[in-house]
Amino acid sequence: MKIEEKLALNKFDIDREIHITLEEEKCRGCDWKPCLYACPAECYVFRENHVTFSYEGCLECGSCRISCPQGAIRWVYPRGGFGICYQYG
Ligand code: SF4
Repeated sequence: MKIEEKLALNKFDIDREIHITLEEEKCRGCDWKPCLYACPAECYVFRENHVTFSYEGCLECGSCRISCPQGAIRWVYPRGGFGICYQYG
């Protein structure tokens, strides 16, 4: 089974409260933007000369926060009961 097929089996209960924020000014100062490559869910996209993200498909791994050399990403877990529910633990 491909990784995409396994990920498609997970369920999300999406919170209305966004659990990721990105400081635009700090982000602009980053030349290589590792968040674009660190996120296994491809939540971060470089579009129209800046990084945009969607929090809805977040796998809650925390890689984006750790990878950001500018400390531009604030990431916390979604509120209790929300977020991803893994099919395989
Ligand atoms: Fe992507 Fe992981 Fe960050 Fe979620 S926590 S946005 S899955 S890198």
